[in-house]
Amino acid sequence: MKEPSSFSKKCNRLVLFELKQPDCSAELLQEQLISWFKLHCRDLPWRRTYDPYHVWVSEIMLQQTQMDRGVVYFTRWVNRFPDVAAVAAANQQEILKYWEGLGYYSRARNLHKAAKVIVNDFGGEVICDYDLLLQLPGIGPYTAAAIASVAGNQDVPVIDANVARVYARLFDIDTPVKEKKAKGRIEEIARKLLPEGRARLFNQAVMELGGLVCTPRLPKCSLCPVSVSCLALAGATVGDRPVIGKSKKIVTVQRVAGLVFHKGSVLLLQRREDDVWGGLWDFPGGELAEGDPEELLIDIIFESTDLIVDVIEPITKVIHHYTRYKIILYCFLCTLRGNNREAVLTSADDYRWVAPKDFKHFGFPAGPRKVLEYIRLKRQELLRSSL
Ligand code: SF4
Repeated sequence: MKEPSSFSKKCNRLVLFELKQPDCSAELLQEQLISWFKLHCRDLPWRRTYDPYHVWVSEIMLQQTQMDRGVVYFTRWVNRFPDVAAVAAANQQEILKYWEGLGYYSRARNLHKAAKVIVNDFGGEVICDYDLLLQLPGIGPYTAAAIASVAGNQDVPVIDANVARVYARLFDIDTPVKEKKAKGRIEEIARKLLPEGRARLFNQAVMELGGLVCTPRLPKCSLCPVSVSCLALAGATVGDRPVIGKSKKIVTVQRVAGLVFHKGSVLLLQRREDDVWGGLWDFPGGELAEGDPEELLIDIIFESTDLIVDVIEPITKVIHHYTRYKIILYCFLCTLRGNNREAVLTSADDYRWVAPKDFKHFGFPAGPRKVLEYIRLKRQELLRSSL
């Protein structure tokens, strides 16, 4: 098999120097990682064909998502949208519904936009060229590199959190991995270690090692195929690598929302397109300020919809986390005063009066979804309510 070139000879020198171990070379590391991957890689649906569309969807879905969960969503997604044309032809409401629960909904909206570009400009085929991929909505350097190398086997290094952790340990990098110095170092290592013509296997091998063996907590060094070359293991610094910089402070945000009933239907507002949850549906409400939360909720609903409501009782409090925010949502049962159901919106794109049995057709962010789950488990009578 064609392998060592002037490129990998350069790698050999790099690794010999870095590892200070005479028996270790870039070639050896590459072989150890690739052989291990061939034996131990997980059987994931997109790995069966390396179809660029499948690799693209999986890469977008797996950002901030655990593998098991990602596989469930991926399978459901490709059953409904078997190709890019099906994504492009779907309406945004359905796209968001199939993404519901994964969070970071801009990923779904961008996937939808990119599918339309691919259908209109590239004949419906997902391209595997790194530079062209970067021009598509929602595709940044990481995703472009992953698609180009995993689907197209292009010689492009991929660096995600798993890869950064593996290299930080293997090369015992002692500065915070998210800071410029370590980032540059990791990029250099990833570029120099990449074996020519084997990017698909090599990139996945390093990512898989980070996912299965060189895990954030309690790495399984005794099972690691590159343990003999690992500087952190040799120097007993595994527990201190990667070095994590100062973590961002958690900001707590308190919100109120109303489940406004009228004649068996509930008022839903569609969040504005430029919102982080743009396109998803929510209960009317807003940020909690000083004062009586019930009075505040009545004011917020009036200001945002021109509708007057009465608050009947508290329903539940739910907590969810979004990036560095901890959001506490207090939800109240409300009824519409009078019979005017026509809303005048000031901070939403659309509204609907929806019977609870039809909620399943709407995509909700985490907060209202938790409220609905609470109602389904504890307040079933509200779902049959004719309030
Ligand atoms: Fe990670 Fe341990 Fe392998 Fe080093 S030996 S790369 S710390 S799993």
